[in-house]
Amino acid sequence: MRSLQDTTTLHNGVKMPWFGLGVYKVQEGEEALQSVKAAIKAGYRSIDTAALYQNEESVGRAIKESGVPREELFITTKVWNTDQRNDSVLEAFETSLQKLGLDYVDLYLVHWPVKEKYKQTWKILEKIYKEGRARAIGVSNFTIHHLEDLIADAEIKPMVNQVELHPLFAQPELRDYCKKQEIQIEAWAPLGQGRLLDHPVLKEIADAHNKTIAQVILRWDLQNEIVTIPKSVKESRIIENANIFDFELTERDMEKINSLNENKRFGPDPDNFDF
Ligand code: NAD
Repeated sequence: MRSLQDTTTLHNGVKMPWFGLGVYKVQEGEEALQSVKAAIKAGYRSIDTAALYQNEESVGRAIKESGVPREELFITTKVWNTDQRNDSVLEAFETSLQKLGLDYVDLYLVHWPVKEKYKQTWKILEKIYKEGRARAIGVSNFTIHHLEDLIADAEIKPMVNQVELHPLFAQPELRDYCKKQEIQIEAWAPLGQGRLLDHPVLKEIADAHNKTIAQVILRWDLQNEIVTIPKSVKESRIIENANIFDFELTERDMEKINSLNENKRFGPDPDNFDF
């Protein structure tokens, strides 16, 4: 991994950048437009949005205004839970495409494992994939048991599982399982939504490399073969977060960071969520 545009190859052969921009809670309009444009200008090629984030239109505009050819970008969006419950997954997909102003996405994800619904949702994603309107399909917030259950009946195995993952919630078992299944793991909240940025152990490692804590965490992701999508709306931080290809964490650094795992999630539990 030597550049921001380096990719992992998903099990269907599609190449996905290891690094991207997350846009959760980025406001539709100027904020989303400017941050996505700043990221693409800084060399990012992957953007992670969702119907829930209500900023797909601005993401789409930024893509058009970036001047970078569509095929060089990797765009992810996700189907929201209410559309799973209302059996309107296909309609939700069409709406996302329309808002993004695209005729295909690179990755379409089931946002959460909605009980009694996610298998049905998956069948619709398989259909979308076969039609070539999503180059890859995957899931988000799936635990091992959700994946086992899904795979048992699936025609196509998910290519990606996007989950909460950071040094305090490192998910070693899920990572091992996904590796065996050739499902690429992707970290959401890689920076613990900003909560990890004053951790003393990370600070010590960051100082030794003359890097910031955010850069150390994101480099830890890459060295662990985890796709990572940190969010920022500030251009200086968008650039800072991506500036991680000129240093390497030592084995000792990696071990120290690995030992911080407390199985501590900040976000909702996929087995017990009420939305
Ligand atoms: P994150 O861990 O990326 O943290 C983002 C926050 O960290 C920013 O709001 C900012 O306050 C701070 N930050 C970022 N860079 C910084 C820097 N260099 N220095 C200091 N502070 C910095 O959290 P996130 O946004 O929740 O997660 C990343 C992306 O993952 C989201 O934007 C979204 O695309 C995705 N996500 C997916 C799900 C899901 O259910 N699939 C859930 C949450 C997030």
